[in-house]
Amino acid sequence: MVCKACGRNTANENANYCEYCGTSFRENIPIRQEDYSIGKDKSMEIESTGNEKPISFGNWMGTMLLPFIPIVGIFIYLVMMFVWAFGSDTPKSKKNWARASLIISVIAIILFVFMLTSTMMDIMNSGLSIEEYMNQLYKL
Ligand SMILES: [Zn+2]
Repeated sequence: MVCKACGRNTANENANYCEYCGTSFRENIPIRQEDYSIGKDKSMEIESTGNEKPISFGNWMGTMLLPFIPIVGIFIYLVMMFVWAFGSDTPKSKKNWARASLIISVIAIILFVFMLTSTMMDIMNSGLSIEEYMNQLYKL
């Protein structure tokens, strides 16, 4: 048995380890492989993400142009955003982008509603009714 690590010859043909450097001769025995894969699961996942094929220029162009389609575009865009964010066959990078975009949209909507509400409150506090305020707007 010739050692792959140190190149020296071990007399015992059934030896599990090199008697000079201790390198295992049994790289492929199942128990070792199992131990290896259990420990490797998490890094394997990261590795597969790292090796993921990049999303093409055309794909991004289509994605970015979607909301500019007149009338229906914005609705398709919103639906697709959910599909991309939660769909199982979306590439991970696009999925992350869709999730981030959705969260940003939600924050923007909350801020908008909050600002709208505080504007309404200001109008109420200034002693005007909404009806009067609207009438004033139309008069301008
Ligand atoms: Zn050796």
